[in-house]
Amino acid sequence: MSNSAQSLEKEISRRRTFAIISHPDAGKTTLTERILHAGGAIQMAGNVRAKREQRRTRSDWMNIEKDRGISVVTSVMTFEYGGCIFNLLDTPGHEDFSEDTYRTLTAVDAAVMVIDAAKGIEARTRKLFEICRLRDIPIVTFINKMDRESQDAFDLLDEVASALALETTPLTWPVGRAAKFLGTYDLRKESMRLKEEVANNDERILQMQEEVELAKAGLPEFNLDDFNAGFLTPVFFGSAIKELGVTDLLDALAEFGPSPRNQDSQDRQVAANEPAMTALVFKIQANMDPNHRDRIAFARICSGRLERGMKLKHTRTGKTFALHTPQFFFARDRQLAEEAFAGDVVGIPNHGTLRIGDTLTEGEDLQFTGVPYFAPEILRRVNLKDAMKAKKLKQALTELAEEGVVQLFKPQDGSAPIVGVVGVLQLDVLQTRLKHEYGVEITFDSISYSQARWVQGEQNIIDRFINSNRSAIADDIDGDPVFLSTSDFMMQRTIDANKELSFHDIKQIG
Ligand code: GDP
Repeated sequence: MSNSAQSLEKEISRRRTFAIISHPDAGKTTLTERILHAGGAIQMAGNVRAKREQRRTRSDWMNIEKDRGISVVTSVMTFEYGGCIFNLLDTPGHEDFSEDTYRTLTAVDAAVMVIDAAKGIEARTRKLFEICRLRDIPIVTFINKMDRESQDAFDLLDEVASALALETTPLTWPVGRAAKFLGTYDLRKESMRLKEEVANNDERILQMQEEVELAKAGLPEFNLDDFNAGFLTPVFFGSAIKELGVTDLLDALAEFGPSPRNQDSQDRQVAANEPAMTALVFKIQANMDPNHRDRIAFARICSGRLERGMKLKHTRTGKTFALHTPQFFFARDRQLAEEAFAGDVVGIPNHGTLRIGDTLTEGEDLQFTGVPYFAPEILRRVNLKDAMKAKKLKQALTELAEEGVVQLFKPQDGSAPIVGVVGVLQLDVLQTRLKHEYGVEITFDSISYSQARWVQGEQNIIDRFINSNRSAIADDIDGDPVFLSTSDFMMQRTIDANKELSFHDIKQIG
């Protein structure tokens, strides 16, 4: 292997790209802050908190974000720890699901699942976990708030195992509980990390020793292959707020957290350590700075090394794309990226050329797969206030749908467009952005449809189905047919009655 191939391999294998998933209030923000602190990015740690509590950020590009003090933008936080470069992809912190959250999970190699030790697995955790499972993303579990009254540690492990059908292996064990929580015992290193020294016969140490024996006897051993395949989760206990157990977690991610995975494309699997650079756009963020009306495509580098100034092939259009100003995003601050490696995420300013799911290469004709559209859970008809602006609305909706703000469906019976979202906040975002960026005011009308499924099958069978269900068929932004239904029950009846067709709640782009 040549020197440059060796150094490429080394750079890539030390990348750790991950996200934190949790139910609101489980401690994601606090853990993020502590992780960044431990990773030496103290300055940034302040920003995470500021984002939530001061309810005012430097780039308050979106009024919704400002008004509600929530983060709609997914940002990337990069830091070095234990010889590794960590990219922590932040997912929106608000209560609603959005498609951005889902798509961000397509750009990570691992997820840290934060669980509140008193509450156990909660609804949103479960939902985000299911997305991770769909993509076989390895999960590391952090059981947080051990400094408070909590459920029994064995019960929590049981709950993770049964609720998520996931094997659990504790790699640390809590020493003491609630106000008497002292720190953790590392089961592999057989050493403790405690906030203060205590005698060997302290009741907390004795309890820990007894429980660790039980855990070792009763729970599976840690198996790296099972972890990488998403069958087994290593479990860490701690208290983010007291910064206990956080380094255990980071050390483990550095030690065995997955390095950049291989990525599937339509033609072949692309290995992360291939020398040629490839990248996949998983998110578009427009108008972050209203003065510049810029549009940033967030791309995950899937292989090789990116260099500023590269001429890339935009494979959807076949055109050349010059990479003049790739940017790294450190929370809210950006800086030019001179180089980046597989696993890293860069922001690429563009004027609408790049779309979600697009692939960039050094010349190979390649289309990555795996960035999904999810069947919307909320459907609304768009009601335009000023009929003179119909054309403007059409253009705006198309642009915002391309950006992934909402999904757009054009009913085949010619009626007004329908928008679909996964989280209700996306509707607010759409309304606000239409008004501020396009000068178009809209309201939403409820419709009887509540379900949407992409229909696939042989063309003549699809045509027949469309003909007999025309009023319930709409075309998505790519012109693919979607069947709309008024209830779960009706949807199931249609699926049962049309066995030769398949109905999908996820559409893969590419
Ligand atoms: P997020 O909504 O998941 O981002 O949760 P936050 O990090 O904002 O935490 C929610 C609340 O739990 C805040 O009041 C935190 O101070 C608190 N919290 C977070 N971690 C811990 C912890 O380890 N112990 C205790 N006692 N409180 C915590």
